[in-house]
Amino acid sequence: MIHYALRCDKGDKFDGWFDSSDRFEKEAKAGGLECPCCGSPKVERDIMGPHVVTGAKKKPPPSKELVEAMMAQARKARRFVEENGENFGRHFASEVLRRREKGTPTDLVYGDPTHDEVIRLKEMNVKGLAAVPWPDLEPATPEKSGRGGARKARKPGSGVN
Ligand SMILES: [Zn+2]
Repeated sequence: MIHYALRCDKGDKFDGWFDSSDRFEKEAKAGGLECPCCGSPKVERDIMGPHVVTGAKKKPPPSKELVEAMMAQARKARRFVEENGENFGRHFASEVLRRREKGTPTDLVYGDPTHDEVIRLKEMNVKGLAAVPWPDLEPATPEKSGRGGARKARKPGSGVN
């Protein structure tokens, strides 16, 4: 059974139950539906959209505190991966596949696969593959970013079994 919120052309709202959405369409088209309040045969689904207030400003950006908390969380995750995982850098993809072929258990490895390699690993159904946030471990300071720019945070994939 499928439940629809319905309304008639006079604005009455009521509930309808149907075997399927096809069934509803057919009955509505055939005029087999009738408003229980006023008897109008013009019944349609009452699609409730989200509430909208025009002129409302865009969602404010997350607060500095929230961003810092998320960064702290991401740094923690990076430290965990670095302390508990094995880094295969550019050889990440081939190493993951080699280990899988040999049946070597892969606890936690990470590295820098290329975009194509990630796609290939996904196609080969490698389990536990995930891109993880990889923030710089020290919060960027004005001195650092002034010279040569801050190093771009990389996003290695990590294979976890
Ligand atoms: Zn009605």
